[in-house]
Amino acid sequence: MEKECIFCNIINRKLPSEFLYEDDTVVVFKDIHPRAPIHLLIVPKKHIRSINDFGEDDKSIVLDTIDIAKMMAVKTGISRSGFKLLFNVEKGGGQVIFHLHLHLMGGWRR
Ligand code: 5GP
Ligand code: ZN
Repeated sequence: MEKECIFCNIINRKLPSEFLYEDDTVVVFKDIHPRAPIHLLIVPKKHIRSINDFGEDDKSIVLDTIDIAKMMAVKTGISRSGFKLLFNVEKGGGQVIFHLHLHLMGGWRR
């Protein structure tokens, strides 16, 4: 855990946030500034900076985030209508929180 990391502090319940899902490796909570009708963050509990930084041992964690995003899409009713999954990587890729997370966005009327 990184002391100054907002997401580590959310995971460790030092900052308030409602978890929509939690297991041993991953938590899911709503994005505080949603950019879609449904905008969730799928966040590994382990502090990994970004997609650039996950190691051999962390591969299953990254796959877990995708699996759980899929499950949350079903749970929130956006699976069939469709959704976006997004990893922002480093500043140039729009990352502002340097704790790996997957954005799940959907629920637009199209
Ligand atoms: P990034 O640009 O790093 O991929 O995305 C970080 C996301 O985290 C942003 O969409 C931002 O709105 C969200 N965020 C930042 N701080 C908080 C927070 O304290 N709580 C929650 N729930 N979301 C946050
Ligand atoms: Zn962290």
